[in-house]
Amino acid sequence: MSDLTRLTVAEARDALRKGETTSVELTEACLATIEAAGGLGAVVHKTPEIALDRARAADTRLAAGEAPSMCGIPVGIKDLFCTEGVASQAGSKILEGFLPPYESTVSGQLKDAGAVMLGKLNMDEFAMGSSNETSVYGNAVNPWRAGNSEAALTPGGSSGGSAAAVAADLCLAATGTDTGGSIRQPAALTGIVGLKPTYGRCSRWGIIAFASSLDQAGPMTKTVRDAAIMGAAMMGHDPKDSTSADLPVPDFEAMLTGDIRGKVIGIPKEYRMDGMPQEIETLWSEGAEMLKDAGAELRDISLPHTRYALPAYYVIAPAEASSNLARYDGVRYGYRAPLSQGDGVTEMYEKTRAEGFGPEVRRRVMVGTYVLSAGFYDAYYNRARKVRALIKRDFEQVFDAGIDAILTPATPSAAFELGREISDPVEMYLNDVFTVTVNLAGLPGIAVPTGLDRQGLPLGLQLIGRPWEEGDLLNTAYALEQAAGFVAKPPKWW
Ligand code: GLN
Repeated sequence: MSDLTRLTVAEARDALRKGETTSVELTEACLATIEAAGGLGAVVHKTPEIALDRARAADTRLAAGEAPSMCGIPVGIKDLFCTEGVASQAGSKILEGFLPPYESTVSGQLKDAGAVMLGKLNMDEFAMGSSNETSVYGNAVNPWRAGNSEAALTPGGSSGGSAAAVAADLCLAATGTDTGGSIRQPAALTGIVGLKPTYGRCSRWGIIAFASSLDQAGPMTKTVRDAAIMGAAMMGHDPKDSTSADLPVPDFEAMLTGDIRGKVIGIPKEYRMDGMPQEIETLWSEGAEMLKDAGAELRDISLPHTRYALPAYYVIAPAEASSNLARYDGVRYGYRAPLSQGDGVTEMYEKTRAEGFGPEVRRRVMVGTYVLSAGFYDAYYNRARKVRALIKRDFEQVFDAGIDAILTPATPSAAFELGREISDPVEMYLNDVFTVTVNLAGLPGIAVPTGLDRQGLPLGLQLIGRPWEEGDLLNTAYALEQAAGFVAKPPKWW
């Protein structure tokens, strides 16, 4: 078979089952593609021996005819997932040299299902960022370019390495995590599909924590069908995570009928932002028309507290991060700063944390400790929690009124140039304007590539679903994907 790396998960699964290819062949093809794509900065720790071992084991399982859907499929794993014996640094210097003695539940489930880990993927440090520029490894690069320009564009963040790797066919699919948009935004900027499941669907055990009440793992894939397949393999109850839901995981793939007749799609007026590019506005109305043509009913809705979502997120996420990151002190694992004569334990903590964390992480730790401090707790942290409850209630009210899914743009712009926004944190934070509400409310959301802008860059739309109804959400996304017929690939330059 030719072009093995271009296969989707579903195509590869079917080809493996029919004996048209082997997992070893697929894995070798991906490993070769990774070797040739160093310029994308997507893969930060390569694991070819592990990959080939797992591929051989997968081929044995396939030959025995007892292989689940992900068996033999080469995937990339975001650096935020602890992988046993393999570097897991969360894109940070402070975890340099850390080799986890255990496997995260989600990557472990993929492994047990027979998926083949090719390596660890680049990301913003501790998943804080929207451009993959806060990474200790350096930035990842978007395989897409604007028109004839050679300017390097961001693949988005924080799961920028995952997005670049899937879009450039370095792996068939990848894991991501999403605290405020880190699966959906990079997916939209690279023309792939990204699903953030309902909070509690995927176990957080073994995933390096950023903001625990918001963090959620999910699949980043070439198609909605692949998101259904890989998503199901990642989800499920885990007694090791007390926030993981004890609910059965349906066969999402079987729910992809494309039939959305009678579904009610909400179009929230608060997502029509001033200064939003006309092309995104147009894409949004075209997407709505596509769903209508497929038999859905469109309804204008209001989510009145939307405009408070970003400020609330940028209080709550840093607050939780400041607490979660307190454990990185140079004592137990990772980096420890070199000490001078006379330095005590306090100097060791201070130097280690000052040298081990990058500027964005330090900013978040400072903001987080400030909003949690005795004098400001009520003014900021408690206020943000109240706003969060109102945002959640906005969604509950529209779902109670019969809305099945909500359609919005995924991002306020197409991929932007590396270096353009990194010096202005507030401008960077605005990238999350359409995605953070979903994390604050704990809902499932999916980004689907729906078109190209004037410069030939991919744009995506977001669908937001009812809690625990990822199957229904995926089916609506599938209908949108079919109607949009997005098949473009980035021209290869790397
Ligand atoms: N860009 C957002 C942030 O910097 C979201 C990151 C994420 O979802 N991990 O916090």
